Amino acid sequence: CELNGVVDDCTCKVESVSEFNNIRLFPPLNSLLNKNYFKFFKVNLHRPCPFWADDSRCAMKGCHVCPCSPDDLPCGLKEESNENKYSADSNKPVDETGDEEEECNKEKTEEDEDQLGALDTTISRENMLAFETWKTHDDAQLNFCEKEDEHSGDVEYVDLLLNPERYTGYKGTSPHRIWSSIYNENCFRPETPESTATTYESFLSNKKLKDMCLEKRVFYRLISGLHSSINIHLCAKYLLSEGLFEQERWGRNIEEFQSRFDPETTDGEGPIRLKNLYFTYLVALRAIAKAAPVLEKEFFYTGEPVEDQEVQRIVKEILKIANSFPEHFDESAMFQGDQQQALQLREEFRTHFRNISRIMDCVGCDKCKLWGKLQIKGLGTALKILFTEQGVGKKSKLTLDRGEIVALFNVFGKLSGSIVEIEEFQELLSQDKPSA
Ligand code: FAD
Repeated sequence: CELNGVVDDCTCKVESVSEFNNIRLFPPLNSLLNKNYFKFFKVNLHRPCPFWADDSRCAMKGCHVCPCSPDDLPCGLKEESNENKYSADSNKPVDETGDEEEECNKEKTEEDEDQLGALDTTISRENMLAFETWKTHDDAQLNFCEKEDEHSGDVEYVDLLLNPERYTGYKGTSPHRIWSSIYNENCFRPETPESTATTYESFLSNKKLKDMCLEKRVFYRLISGLHSSINIHLCAKYLLSEGLFEQERWGRNIEEFQSRFDPETTDGEGPIRLKNLYFTYLVALRAIAKAAPVLEKEFFYTGEPVEDQEVQRIVKEILKIANSFPEHFDESAMFQGDQQQALQLREEFRTHFRNISRIMDCVGCDKCKLWGKLQIKGLGTALKILFTEQGVGKKSKLTLDRGEIVALFNVFGKLSGSIVEIEEFQELLSQDKPSA
């Protein structure tokens, strides 16, 4: 699994990305993702699959997700507090001067009521409704993922640290149908005449990519890179042994990694798929660097002042490191040329991606669905950051809600962790090799 050379469709080398990530970025990112703000993710795992009859639920123990009880959440994340505490579209506490701990639990104050009253007299209900309708319309134009109904009774908070992404035993027809539907029906296809008859397996060959334009290659690489990252995680956190009288043992499974990424067992595709992971990482890195002006203003409010300040500090440190990377992915090269065609392509790109976010409701293992939904939302957020000021969203200002921020940093954390894991596996494989 020797990896070297320039990351496809980028300008930097695999080796320099690994060094930058493993030494500089991964340590602070890892500590950030252990904080309360980033470990609690709100998700609906009960939405029906919109495309085909649900696969039978995965019965394996590893697929189970434990949702949080309200008592597990920091007070600032509890629904009631959120509604009283935050301003409409930012993560900014309404009252910045008071004792935050006390603020967190207090009932709606008279002052709040006065503010609402004042609003009611200046903006009529019709105007408010019209404003909401336009806002929903604008958001829909900018979002690359289907928005979930936050108020549905099926939405739950999940502690990501208690439900880590790892081997679950989800394999066979169900995941194959998901991946096949993603690559075959929702990725773009090469524009050569014979490609209309392209089958799943042959389309999955990287060799066909040269026939496609930059935007379509980017789309494919993003998904393929995420697919690699998911599979690296299951190889790195593999269930090595379990038994009635034995404790479960989790760890790296070298054979599993080799079977998925060795050039010999994958007809040369393995290393290319690993390189696609670097590509996806670079897109997320660029998005985080680009969103710095918005992220620097976030309070990351959980109602625990000491931790909230620590989170603000670590985020600033990560943003500084991300912005110091010398060879960022250049999104400005995308959706250029004829304006009408570029807009149409951008819209197709968004529609395809939104479809993939809906396919995540068809994943037949809850743990895989949790991480699939989170990571697709994270990549969708990265795309929203990169393209909000382009095309349709030209006059739009970037705003991010808590769910998007949590998903963005967590998918970045997973991609970053996968790059660290590649080095670990390479090290193990080199120890295995008989010396010449
Ligand atoms: P698959 O990974 O199922 O791949 C199917 C085909 O796609 C392969 O035959 C190959 O031709 C092609 N392919 C493989 N990798 C790439 C790539 N990087 N780029 C392009 N083409 C590729 N399992 C777990 O144990 N834990 C998880 O957390 C987990 N999460 C999942 C999340 C989602 C959204 C999905 C769809 C599946 C998840 N799985 C998870 C299942 C896992 O991804 C595999 O599908 C499963 O292990 C079976 O692997 P496979 O070897 O049959 O090939």
